[in-house]
Amino acid sequence: MRADDVLHTPMPEFAADEVIEAVGDQFGVRPKPRSTALPSERDQLLLLPDTDVGPIVVKVSNAAESPRALDFESQALQHLAEVDPDLPVPRLHATGPGGLIGSIVDKDGREHALRVMTALPGSHVEGRVVTPRLAESIGALCARVSIGLRGFFHEYAGRPVAWDIRVQRAPAPDPLAAARTRIKQAVVATRSLPSGVQHADLTLTNVLVDDAGAITGVVDLGDMHHTAAVCDVAVALTSVLRNTATRQVASVWELAGAFLDGYQRWRPLLPEEAAVLGHLVLARLLTTLDISRERVDEHPANRTYISQYDASTQRLLATLLDLSDDELSRRFSRLTGLTIRRESAGEPLARRRDRVLGGGLAPTFYTEPVHIAAGEGPWLVSDEGEHYLDAYNNVAVAGHTHPAITQAVVRQLRTLNTNNRYLHPAIVELAERLGTTMPDGLDTCVFVTSGSEANDLAWRLARAYTGESGTVVAEWSYHGISARTEDFSTMEWTDPGRPPPDVATFTAPHGAGSPLDRDEARGRVAAAVDDLARRGARPGVLMVDPQFTSEGILDAPAEFMQGLVTGVHDAGGLFLADEVQSGFGRSGPQLWRFATMGITPDIVTLGKPMAAGLPVAAVVTRREIADAFARNREYFSTFAGSPVAAVACLAVLDVLSDRGLPERAVRVGAYLRERLREVQGEFPVVAEVRGYGLIAGVDLRPSEYGGGREFTAAVIEGLRRHRVLAGRTGRGGHVLKVRPPLVWEEEHADRFTAALRLALRDTARS
Ligand code: PMP
Repeated sequence: MRADDVLHTPMPEFAADEVIEAVGDQFGVRPKPRSTALPSERDQLLLLPDTDVGPIVVKVSNAAESPRALDFESQALQHLAEVDPDLPVPRLHATGPGGLIGSIVDKDGREHALRVMTALPGSHVEGRVVTPRLAESIGALCARVSIGLRGFFHEYAGRPVAWDIRVQRAPAPDPLAAARTRIKQAVVATRSLPSGVQHADLTLTNVLVDDAGAITGVVDLGDMHHTAAVCDVAVALTSVLRNTATRQVASVWELAGAFLDGYQRWRPLLPEEAAVLGHLVLARLLTTLDISRERVDEHPANRTYISQYDASTQRLLATLLDLSDDELSRRFSRLTGLTIRRESAGEPLARRRDRVLGGGLAPTFYTEPVHIAAGEGPWLVSDEGEHYLDAYNNVAVAGHTHPAITQAVVRQLRTLNTNNRYLHPAIVELAERLGTTMPDGLDTCVFVTSGSEANDLAWRLARAYTGESGTVVAEWSYHGISARTEDFSTMEWTDPGRPPPDVATFTAPHGAGSPLDRDEARGRVAAAVDDLARRGARPGVLMVDPQFTSEGILDAPAEFMQGLVTGVHDAGGLFLADEVQSGFGRSGPQLWRFATMGITPDIVTLGKPMAAGLPVAAVVTRREIADAFARNREYFSTFAGSPVAAVACLAVLDVLSDRGLPERAVRVGAYLRERLREVQGEFPVVAEVRGYGLIAGVDLRPSEYGGGREFTAAVIEGLRRHRVLAGRTGRGGHVLKVRPPLVWEEEHADRFTAALRLALRDTARS
């Protein structure tokens, strides 16, 4: 039997009384005799508005209808009712023996299946004005039905279906041949896209709405079949866009965007789905025209009825065919937010960038900037697909584009992103978790958006608590870009008027000279405090990066650090550990570099790696210090600790602990420095290898073997040629900075040292 035989077999024509009697006998439903016939192409449908179980629709199936088809549809309705009880699909009433299908025999002795289902309120959307809001609701409905059917299977789902948009039934000659060629690739692509049983006919005729335009139902599962979910999207979307209402309130693109917004709230599309969607809409339009033409050929008398949608179908077809294949894909990708931004032909990106991004204020790394298009784990991938080993970026502490972090961020962004003035569990959990990693007493977290803002606020806290504005920092320190923290970033002191009167410096712990013990540190702090006093200031805070990263990656002994703490406490100031750069597991499972030194800071600032690149930073301190500041002001930073930011940071903490990355940092860091010391043995220009955990400073200071700022810059360019991205630091600009994501394994350390050997060789030669 052909699948569409039902269209060639006369529709059942029972008298209403006969049907009502059968319904009473077999389903135990007692209708009042009032009934209305509903339109159908192949069955007899009777609406019985008044029964003891509420309004029902009785469906007397075409005699040619296959029992498998009926079973398929009934099972699907049952399935949907179970998995998504709120989905407005008709509910089937059971027969006395517990089945779902009864029967009724016509005067010619043919048996027809009989089904009873709840009548859904509302009327068809077709013919109504489709507003963007309605389009969005239809999109959402389409996704919900598709999701509801995800786990449903039935052998009948694989039968051939006339409306399958992937099987084009081109006539010969084919007036639409050109358009049909354009959809071929998209149809093939759908074969590897998410698929399952789909409604596949969620058109405006099959969606019901109430007078206010709210959706009340979805009906007619007669064309359900197994296909790609994006084909189902294309069918519903085509119907919305082809909307035959005489009045249009929105453009095709506005409606498409609204529909996809609704759909994607439930089921975000994959980039591959978005890329073929436009072409599948074309496919649906072609199928519609083909079937309409076939029917007109068979029933010329019904031409007007059958071809009523042809004009609007042709109109939409023409609109889409006006776009090139590329434009069509890009248009739908953009509507779904899935455009990949590529460099356009014409003016080189670097020149365009320079023109609009502030020139000298926005330099790039390297003499020839690298265009990074993607990242994965320890790799950065250029726009040309070259893989660079990332030996520089600590923001991606858990590796680039970590799937668990990306998921968490995207899901939260889909749910909510506001500010921290509302109750939200993420920011609270984050503060609690950070608190457990801190020494006792450091119980209060203030969220901000950058390391600079964290240090800026920390200084204000210290001033409020101590009453003093004086700040002691290391020589060649870096603590931020704000007006105040620039004062604390001695490496930035290029303009005259430095140091400011309330900032003094101490000498960072270089190895040479006196032993770096407690007394030495206290002495250096005392000298800085004296310096402040000479200029009329007293210390409120001593601010230090415990890894002395910008100072050249210096390894301060714990005693030295302890001496700094007592030194500033003796002078009445607070001690601040700036963990913005060194924190989050780089130095091991304690997470913070200061924690390896047996000290308890008064304030800790966090940032950079905190949230995989989202702007989140924090100040952690004692409540009494925060209270001193809060006494006469409040502090609110719009983006600080937003739900998305907080969730991102929680995900980073999860990945760090679940994957043991801090432990790995210790192991791989030690291995890296061992390998680097071998390089040191081979290249006398390498004066020293320093670092703790997964950070290494390779000191290429000037010597009889070369070295120095220019030399180091050339080595970095050389590393880049060998596909490794590193940086440099320190006052003389001659310390190679190796500060990779913590996902590095030993093999990456090997790769780095191999590239370094080549770069040192190249540089020494040139
Ligand atoms: N403190 C330290 C130790 C840093 O390394 C940095 C950034 N390199 C900052 C503060 C400033 O952080 P941000 O760039 O997020 O403002």
